[in-house]
Amino acid sequence: NFISAVVPPGEIGIKFDDIGALEDVKTALHELAILPMKRPELFSRGNLLRPCKGILLFGPPGTGKTLLAKALATEAGANFISITGSTLTSKWFGDAEKLTKALFSFASKLAPVIVFVDEVDSLLGARGGGFEHEATRRMRNEFMAAWDGLRSKDSQRILILGATNRPFDLDDAVIRRLPRRIYVDLPDADNRLKILKIFLAQENVAPGFDIRALANATEGYSGSDLKNLCIAAAYRPVQELLDEEKKGKKHDTTPAAALRALNLDDFIQ
Ligand code: ATP
Repeated sequence: NFISAVVPPGEIGIKFDDIGALEDVKTALHELAILPMKRPELFSRGNLLRPCKGILLFGPPGTGKTLLAKALATEAGANFISITGSTLTSKWFGDAEKLTKALFSFASKLAPVIVFVDEVDSLLGARGGGFEHEATRRMRNEFMAAWDGLRSKDSQRILILGATNRPFDLDDAVIRRLPRRIYVDLPDADNRLKILKIFLAQENVAPGFDIRALANATEGYSGSDLKNLCIAAAYRPVQELLDEEKKGKKHDTTPAAALRALNLDDFIQ
């Protein structure tokens, strides 16, 4: 199947509160997507307040774009369909028209729905002139035609949400169809602190450990990098316990004993 996930509302298990920082992004998504889906009557009059059909999230890898898309579906009470640009084009040569039609008719049935297109640049990237694969070109044209063809009744309740690390690769025609573009930036120190607090909320952190110092020392880290760092730190006491066992030390090996204090100090350079 070329759709990588279809999740009903409420079953994604990720809310805005599970995402650290990115407050401005959450506010923008609230106005642009959640309100029009939950309160369509507020957007039905006049021409100025039209719900937008497409939003682009762009920014460095690991900054939470996929997480935001999933949380948005939860917050909007919408179904979530996820497709990945690169798998679409490479696997499904020749079936562009059929697949795109199927996707959009499926989406109409599931409205309200967020159609998340990860790596949107692979699916809808710039026209590659003579070198471009015919299947890629057809898929893009079909996708845009189906998108334009959404009836206005449906367009209120079907949102195409694209994500990319490479916004400059996008075709102009695609950029026009994603009129709202939201930059998802790397976190600064205060925001790294907020993200770390979410990851460490349930953990047994070493007493006196200075999370603020870790936040300050991790300039340039994405949310995903911070998560990997915490996972590595959490694994260390487990590794130490296994090493001691190898040397013949006897331990109470219940899970509670294995979960010794997480010590992140070693990770601060
Ligand atoms: P890519 O562009 O590489 O697809 P992305 O921007 O979509 O990356 P995600 O896949 O959403 O990034 O993030 C990867 C993981 O990093 C998430 O599953 C989550 O665990 C963690 N993460 C990233 N940012 C945050 C954040 N602000 N708060 C909490 N967790 C985060």
